[in-house]
Amino acid sequence: MPIPEAFGPSAAAPPMPRPVAGPSAAARRLGVLPVPSLEWNAQVEHETAHLCERIKTVVPAVEWPFFAPYVKAINALKRERNAVILAHNYQTPEIYNCVADFVGDSLQLAREAAKTKAGVIVQCGVHFMAETAKILNPDKVVLIPDRRAGCSLAQSITAEDVRMLRDSFPGVPVVTYVNTSAEVKAESDICCTSSNALQVVESLGSDKVIFLPDEYLAKYVASQTSVKIIAWKGHCEVHERFTADELRSYRESDPSIKIIAHPECPPDVIEEADFTGSTAHMIDWVRERRPRRVVMVTECSMADNVQAELPDVHFVRPCNLCPHMKRITLPKILDSLVHMQEEVVVDPLIAGKARRAVERMIHLKS
Ligand code: SF4
Repeated sequence: MPIPEAFGPSAAAPPMPRPVAGPSAAARRLGVLPVPSLEWNAQVEHETAHLCERIKTVVPAVEWPFFAPYVKAINALKRERNAVILAHNYQTPEIYNCVADFVGDSLQLAREAAKTKAGVIVQCGVHFMAETAKILNPDKVVLIPDRRAGCSLAQSITAEDVRMLRDSFPGVPVVTYVNTSAEVKAESDICCTSSNALQVVESLGSDKVIFLPDEYLAKYVASQTSVKIIAWKGHCEVHERFTADELRSYRESDPSIKIIAHPECPPDVIEEADFTGSTAHMIDWVRERRPRRVVMVTECSMADNVQAELPDVHFVRPCNLCPHMKRITLPKILDSLVHMQEEVVVDPLIAGKARRAVERMIHLKS
């Protein structure tokens, strides 16, 4: 089994995207709509009852009068704006279950972004996901409800770092996790997600690959292939917090418990797991096997979202929240649709190069 070489982040992490001053180009073009009524009344209760029912196992009934007016208003505004909402598996249950048109992991959302006929995409996830949607849809309006929703992996590497690695390893192809900026994608040969990382690495026909920027995902891929992996020391701030000791204590308290882990976790955590896979693969695993008790070793909203669908499974929730994902809320989604903000803009030259790497991944035969 090859041991990955790992290189470290440069001193200067890329800055977070800057807030845009004044109304977005989309707001100037499409106009600002009146803010809908957010009153909780019998009509709102009646019209949203089916959605309340859908999340009743994970959202206390006392919270629904706050959420319901936003849910009703957002669903009406989506139609008015010809907008589609894409929500990542880590979004909270009221977003994931009540206003999203498509849910999934980064790969599923990128595929939906590439297919959609809607004129406006609202990305309920983090900034690199919204950028990916814009890269695939240069002529559409892509909005993110809070531009500050970043990602520790995306911040760990710059385009200059990738050029430095290319100089150090001439001719070695570069595979970049989608959790990166458009500039980094533009320097890459192909993108990957945690769903298809192994397939992407092996598709290149090279005995050596530079795999960026998640060191732990790189190690996981290296454990599954004979391709030599050159890694980067980027980490997900959520998954790196899990420890093997923590998982062993779950198993000691209940030997029949199932533990499933995301490959962004450290290697000793993955060794304790019964299954390792992307968020989409983790959800499929639970849907198919219906374990009595399960620990999903990943961001904790995902267990809530699967719990809403599978009330008979008991989820043990080690609660590690992603602070970036949690910046997205119903009030901000509503603002986004009313004011057409925050509009995601990617330099067309960079978007063109990044698109090649993302589309090469999307078109890879599964
Ligand atoms: S969970 Fe980790 S990888 Fe996902 S957005 Fe948050 S920091 Fe980034």
